[in-house]
Amino acid sequence: MAEQLAERGISDQNVLEVMKKVPRHWFFSDTLLDKIIYDIERSFDIGCGQTISKPYTVAWQTELLMLAPQMTVFEVGTGSGYQTAVLCEMGASVVTVERQYALYRKTKELLKGLQYTARCFLGDSFNGVPELKGVVYDRVLVTCGAPKIPEGLMHLLKVGGIMVIPVGEGEQRMLRVFKDGESPSQWRVEDHGDAMFVPMLQGRNIRQK
Ligand code: SAH
Repeated sequence: MAEQLAERGISDQNVLEVMKKVPRHWFFSDTLLDKIIYDIERSFDIGCGQTISKPYTVAWQTELLMLAPQMTVFEVGTGSGYQTAVLCEMGASVVTVERQYALYRKTKELLKGLQYTARCFLGDSFNGVPELKGVVYDRVLVTCGAPKIPEGLMHLLKVGGIMVIPVGEGEQRMLRVFKDGESPSQWRVEDHGDAMFVPMLQGRNIRQK
């Protein structure tokens, strides 16, 4: 916003700094916020061509995870950090990975500022993160659409663990996978219906804003 004001001719730096400091959303009425930001069916652009998930989707995926306090969760697609914050509030200990550098940086700071202790990493996370090699989790949550269930992610789950993941090219389905054993023949897949997420992509993107 400050950039736009400067472009429109406001040049006093103090004014621009103060305009940055006072978040305009504080002054909206609840009814407007309810209508727009808290509409459970609305997602929004968060930059880098990505979106913050709808509240409905966040609640749905969180419920499907069947979390208990103290569980460890590996989240793919930090994005805005909204889902990450919800997982933290559920009592989970969260590792979250984002492939877009700009989002990773911004959200890591935001979550820290909000006192959430989720650990944020930059990467494409098809196989976890190199820094935490060998660590396995109670739950894996994927918040982008994968072409198929990534085996590498299944190996991040403890036996008895659960992965929730939207899968499919074109049409996506929300899948819940129960890892009953190490062998793929012991992975039980439940279909929870239609889903619509941005695609899960390979590699990190350090350029695009
Ligand atoms: N949970 C987020 C949703 C963000 S949209 C929220 O609540 O706002 C999905 C995110 O997944 C995007 O930010 C996208 O950049 C990221 N993403 C896509 N493929 C990825 C991958 N392979 N590894 C990590 N993040 C990925």
